[in-house]
Amino acid sequence: MNYIVLDLEWNQPLHSKTGENIKQKNVLFEIIEIGAVKLDENLNEIGRFNRLIKPVVHKKMNPIISNITGIKEKDLNKEKKFPTVIEEFLIWCGDDYIMCTFGNQDVYELEANMQYHNINIPWKFPLLYIDIQRIFSIENNEINEQRSLEMVSMFMGVSGKNAYHRALSDAIYTAEVMKKMNRNSFEKYMSLDYTNLPTNKSEEKEIDLGTHLEYLSRAFEEKEEMMACKEIYITRCPVCMKKCRKKIKWFSDSIKYICMARCENHGLIEGLLYLKKNHNGYYVLRKTIGVDEKRFMDVVKKRNLINEKRKLRKNKEKTQ
Ligand SMILES: [Zn+2]
Repeated sequence: MNYIVLDLEWNQPLHSKTGENIKQKNVLFEIIEIGAVKLDENLNEIGRFNRLIKPVVHKKMNPIISNITGIKEKDLNKEKKFPTVIEEFLIWCGDDYIMCTFGNQDVYELEANMQYHNINIPWKFPLLYIDIQRIFSIENNEINEQRSLEMVSMFMGVSGKNAYHRALSDAIYTAEVMKKMNRNSFEKYMSLDYTNLPTNKSEEKEIDLGTHLEYLSRAFEEKEEMMACKEIYITRCPVCMKKCRKKIKWFSDSIKYICMARCENHGLIEGLLYLKKNHNGYYVLRKTIGVDEKRFMDVVKKRNLINEKRKLRKNKEKTQ
């Protein structure tokens, strides 16, 4: 099995009036460069892929992106379009590989661009990939930090004179960082891609991502149908996978649902439930994490605060 270390550069529109980058939903981050390094199972480099891509959606180069990457509009005009380049890329990848990226956005944007161009996404559920940024955070006990590739490569002693923010050089830096890391971590702390959902109930399973369990539901046509599905509310212990009794029932903080449960043998567990929607329909992402008493008390406080606010609002409505 080979490792495909991938990095992308993309263009995005400017807000016409303010000159700021648009960060709203449904804006395609259009890929203008794919860079990748192929490593064998011993992390020896066995190939490189490097292509610029002619944009068809955001044809005007965003000056901020031009500044960061050094890619100019005239550089892209003579290049091939995305469907041709992605076909070449997938052939270059071969059959037996695992994708490696720095951060969780590259796999997502690659698939978003493929969907935009109606290109069949070849990876079936579950697509597990290696996010080097995440693994670096876990290994350095700073799970909520997202360090830049510059910082991580410097820390690992592999920074060089090639410019950052170009697809191939970033892929090379990421590959060099990988060579310095604990290899066991790659398999232990995989990341799960959410683009391809399970196609039926029997494909749904909880996946151990090293730090927590993740469950992706199949897609539902109606939100109500999904909410009525008992399976989505289960909490399993991340250690023994047994179903656990709730200590705090699911409640909403308006972004997600939270619950607390306890495994008789392995202690407290926090459940997080995200309701999502993609081109297939409505689906649920559930994370289950082992936590300590302090976290449990924080969640109790949070729930009480939400309940208080709700009560106040109701009373106000009554008196109006
Ligand atoms: Zn347990």
